Amino acid sequence: MADLMYFLRLARRQAGWMAVGLAAALFVMGAGIALLGLAGGMVAGGMMAGVVVAGAAVLLRALAVGRAIARYLERLLTHEATFRVLADLRLWFFKQTAPLSPGRLDGLRASDLLSRLVGDIDALDGLYLRLITPGVVAIAAAMILAVVLGGVSMVMAVLVLGLFALAGIGVPAVAERAGRDVGAEQVVAVARLRTATVDYVQGITDLLVNQAEARQAARIQAAGHQRDTAGHRQAIIAAWSAAATQVTTHLALIAVILTGAWAVHTGRAGLGGVVLALFVTLAAFEAVAPLPGAWQTLGRIKTAARRLLEVATTEPAVSDPPPDRRVPVPSETTLRFEGVTFQYPGSETAALRGIDLTIAEGERVAITGPSGAGKSTLLSLIVRFHDPDAGRVTLDGVDLRDLAQVELLSRIGVLSQATAIFAGTLRQNLLLGRAEADEETLRAALATAGLDSFVGSLPDGLDTWLGEAGVAVSGGEARRIALARVLLKDAPILLLDEPTEGLDADTEAEVIQALGAFIEGRTVLLISHRPAPLALADRVLRIEDGRLQQPG
Ligand code: ADP
Ligand code: MG
Repeated sequence: MADLMYFLRLARRQAGWMAVGLAAALFVMGAGIALLGLAGGMVAGGMMAGVVVAGAAVLLRALAVGRAIARYLERLLTHEATFRVLADLRLWFFKQTAPLSPGRLDGLRASDLLSRLVGDIDALDGLYLRLITPGVVAIAAAMILAVVLGGVSMVMAVLVLGLFALAGIGVPAVAERAGRDVGAEQVVAVARLRTATVDYVQGITDLLVNQAEARQAARIQAAGHQRDTAGHRQAIIAAWSAAATQVTTHLALIAVILTGAWAVHTGRAGLGGVVLALFVTLAAFEAVAPLPGAWQTLGRIKTAARRLLEVATTEPAVSDPPPDRRVPVPSETTLRFEGVTFQYPGSETAALRGIDLTIAEGERVAITGPSGAGKSTLLSLIVRFHDPDAGRVTLDGVDLRDLAQVELLSRIGVLSQATAIFAGTLRQNLLLGRAEADEETLRAALATAGLDSFVGSLPDGLDTWLGEAGVAVSGGEARRIALARVLLKDAPILLLDEPTEGLDADTEAEVIQALGAFIEGRTVLLISHRPAPLALADRVLRIEDGRLQQPG
């Protein structure tokens, strides 16, 4: 329940929309009761004078039309409120999650994260749309029922309100209990289905060559089956609770007739009043009909809420210093590791041990060493994906932990081992490097990166769609696009992680040549286990098992 309160507090920003939606829902319910009540009163012929009847007929028509319009508005407004809340929630979740990357998200798969961002947030729409609004409407209906029936007969009012509570609280409570585990299972099954499907699509080549696609397909099928079974059980619970609500409604009508007949018989109430009570009861019970179905989904909503909070409340691996300790980023670019030791959380051994290394302003240092020696980890400490366990990394003598991360990153260009090409145009992919770059600058960067002929071959030039569902980009082209991005960023510090990994010798030579001109005068840390790029460096160091081997 605390989880749900957390999300209600988050929804506060849309309180205005939620309030008008609720007002419309209340009006619909009130108009429904008035409509049936008035009709009942007329049927009973309780209103004798013709004038009154004519007036009532006009009112009846107005109510009928007004109720239809209000029903439409209610749907529109409550959904508007819900979608606004969901949009806020997605933004909130994204903002909470972004700082976790990559340090804290290593353990989560992309598809699982996607599942939480899409599916679990969608599941929360039931909270406001199906639980809160109908709940308040039902309480208001109960109050109207108490006033109208109490005016006819006390016994009738007590009996009917008891049945109303049974339909509005008792049945939903049972439905909630019955749907709790099934709902949780539904959320997990849907997430599993999504993960298995994304894995299948992304890994189809590997699955095919290893003849493992049948196994993965079976996994998808099992998750789908689990989801369907849970859905089926939910349908059974929904059918039973709808039946229970119907029976209770009819019991209430019978109670009105019996107690009403007795009241008329003993002369304590008129026939008109009893008929009015009958119709009002019928209308009021409409308000409880949606409740069991809504409460049945509570288990699902709660599980979704918990899964969201699980990620969103994780502490980031690194955080910005408090404002009073924050130091502006120095303009000097000397980088220094001072006795740095670092171990990945959950890892058995340290990835870096007692690293002492100075890269003076304008110096180009290369680090080489076997795979797994800790080369990339060195870079990830400079961009503060992680902080050292012992020792410190400084920029012009200032501990990186005293700098705001965005400011630090604005000074660093990174060409990483794995290049991400985003689903978007080539232009958009390049603008990641510098958002305000003009056409000329883009062209120049592409030329330096050796991409002239590549751009020429694209159907729409710079505006060709790349990535998934776009033009396929080879490994070498991707690396050069990343290089163009780094050139555009034009940062004084450059971190190059295996910049020519996976390239053929010719392409490698071209990339190295492009880099050679560009890195002139910048502070560079280059990592490579290939010999060719090492020629770019002033000095080459070796790292093994997380220890820097001093030359000599
Ligand atoms: P290199 O770049 O030299 O190949 P890395 O710096 O990537 O090596 O890795 C150094 C060590 O840290 C390796 O033993 C690797 O398995 C481990 N490692 C790398 N990344 C992670 C991570 N996210 N979580 C746990 N261990 C990691
Ligand atoms: Mg590496």
